[in-house]
Amino acid sequence: MVLRHSFVLLLLPLSLIGCQENKPSAAPTKEASTTPPAPLASSVPLRPRLFFVLERGNTNRKEIALTFDDGPHPEFTPMLLDRLKHLKVHATFFMVGEMVKEAPQLAKRIVEEGHEAGNHSFSHPNLKTVSSEEIAKEIEQGSEQIRKACGIDPLFFRPPGGNYNEVVMQVLIQAGTPLALWTYNPKDFARPPADQIERGILQNAQNGMIVLLHSSIIQTYEILPDLVANLRTQGYTFVTLIEMAQHSPELADRIAHAKQLN
Ligand SMILES: [Zn+2]
Repeated sequence: MVLRHSFVLLLLPLSLIGCQENKPSAAPTKEASTTPPAPLASSVPLRPRLFFVLERGNTNRKEIALTFDDGPHPEFTPMLLDRLKHLKVHATFFMVGEMVKEAPQLAKRIVEEGHEAGNHSFSHPNLKTVSSEEIAKEIEQGSEQIRKACGIDPLFFRPPGGNYNEVVMQVLIQAGTPLALWTYNPKDFARPPADQIERGILQNAQNGMIVLLHSSIIQTYEILPDLVANLRTQGYTFVTLIEMAQHSPELADRIAHAKQLN
């Protein structure tokens, strides 16, 4: 059963909130070498541990969050980043750990250009079919790859394929990792005609909307200039998920100290 929450804020035991007890990463301690090493994941400031589910932002604000799942992809991600830069839009990229490992410079570029990095697991399995230990490992290893490549600890986790259940929820609660869902899914992964994707988003445009997109779909890339212009004409601005959560009266205080992470 897929759980849907209009806006869920779970109260957690104090031990799970606001503490910095994330497990140290397994990065080995190396002796000093002649070439400067890549930043160790363990030296990256850890995000606060807290849990909530975000599927829409503040409905009183004309804000929209574009989110791009999968990648970074060597061919598509640079094109997408160039286009977003040109459009002056900051988005949220849910990256796959294995792909970050393959293209760390691209992952780094995403963050350097003002976008938010989100965790989309390490190997993109269907989390409904694996054990809770495997789920925890996927979340931690996905996060670790982003820490290594980007120098930040991602706040949000989005499950691959949107597949989650109570077991996944329990692991996220234990890990103190917020679950990022979406308000509208145009199903761009099925590669429908570009105008169909755009029309769907425009017809569903609403305050606090989180749009689920994919970073390697050419149709999605193609619609961006017109889509962004159209939504801006309607008064919408584009925000990252952390910004969206910070603009939520229910969450603002809790994640205020996560600001420096983005
Ligand atoms: Zn995915």
